[in-house]
Amino acid sequence: MDLYEYQARDVFEKHGVPVLRGIVATTQAEAKAAAQELGGGTVVVKAQVKTGGRGKAGGVKLAHNPEEAEAHAAEILGMDIKGHTVHRVMIAEGASIAEEYYFSLLLDRAERRYLALASVEGGVEIEQLAVERPEALARVAVDPIAGVDKAKAAEIVSAAGFAPEIADEVAAVIEQLWTAYDEEDATLVEVNPLVRTEAGAIIALDGKVTLDENAAFRHPDHAELVDQAATDPLEAKAKELDLNYVKLDGEVGIIGNGAGLVMSTLDVVAYAGEQQGVKPANFLDIGGGANATVMANGLDVILGDEQVRSVFVNVFGGITACDEVASGIVSALEILGDTASKPLVVRLDGNNVEAGRKILADANHPLVTVVPTMDEAAAKAVELAAAK
Ligand code: GDP
Ligand code: MN
Repeated sequence: MDLYEYQARDVFEKHGVPVLRGIVATTQAEAKAAAQELGGGTVVVKAQVKTGGRGKAGGVKLAHNPEEAEAHAAEILGMDIKGHTVHRVMIAEGASIAEEYYFSLLLDRAERRYLALASVEGGVEIEQLAVERPEALARVAVDPIAGVDKAKAAEIVSAAGFAPEIADEVAAVIEQLWTAYDEEDATLVEVNPLVRTEAGAIIALDGKVTLDENAAFRHPDHAELVDQAATDPLEAKAKELDLNYVKLDGEVGIIGNGAGLVMSTLDVVAYAGEQQGVKPANFLDIGGGANATVMANGLDVILGDEQVRSVFVNVFGGITACDEVASGIVSALEILGDTASKPLVVRLDGNNVEAGRKILADANHPLVTVVPTMDEAAAKAVELAAAK
């Protein structure tokens, strides 16, 4: 999960990384008030979007007083930066910059360790620097167990060629950035620019942080960093129900057990629907224990998608046998009652398939069609979705 700059700023502050004060605003009036709260002097109005190059796109503007901050905020709010609409700005304390540097810590998957990148030529597009003048970008491997201690930080600072008079202070900031990276379970911490101010302070002026979602269980506080407004409401509901659901743009709802089976179901439906322009509406893997509750929850999420016109339930009985899944479908339809309003095409195969089909035949639910093979089921689901 990528964080917004203002969230990265908060993470940095929590771990002692020197940052400037910043206040988030969603309207121009709030922006003006924020500039006043920061003392009424020079501030920077910064677009909060999860993409780089905001400065170049006109999304970072210096304001000398609260009125100017208000005017800049009016321009920046609503702006489109590389396909991201600006809904918030951060009003940040202004800094007089003497020099701009670059620093990042990231997960080097190929080498199975971390990597620190540092340069005394910051502020610029680092990708460009890495290609054009790779010698200006120091790369220092970091052992995940040892981390960045005083000696390692000094090694990074020296490899990048920081001036001796600021070396110790930069090294101290790098150690604090390591703490943030390590303790928050990040896969990226990037500071561009890290600056030296005219007054001689080293400050992280712009931050990018990516958190490892696999470590979310260790960080209950990270849940509040999720951008609810940008999350699809059906995906949010599925997540609450602990379902593996991804919303897609299509008409045939898909439920299956096992990620591989669901992926191939998407392919088969996309192929079957090619002529009519019918596509799969989602990915939903209900996993091994496809009991009635899980089935009902899955159907509930899928039927909440207004685009959906039919649902394809594709189950291969393994440890969970087909008769249990069939009972699950029948009970799920009972649980959902009138909420279940769209036709269901069910294909069952594998362990106890005959018993499973019998349960569905006996239930004789008006919405359910049982189809023997995956291809036929896909064709049927497409036909139902294409029909008016
Ligand atoms: P990015 O373009 O998305 O990476 O946004 P940054 O936050 O890095 O801002 C871009 C540039 O704006 C920086 O490299 C600085 O040169 C400049 N900038 C940002 N904040 C300040 C500030 O407080 N004072 C001054 N003078 N310049 C700033
Ligand atoms: Mn930047």
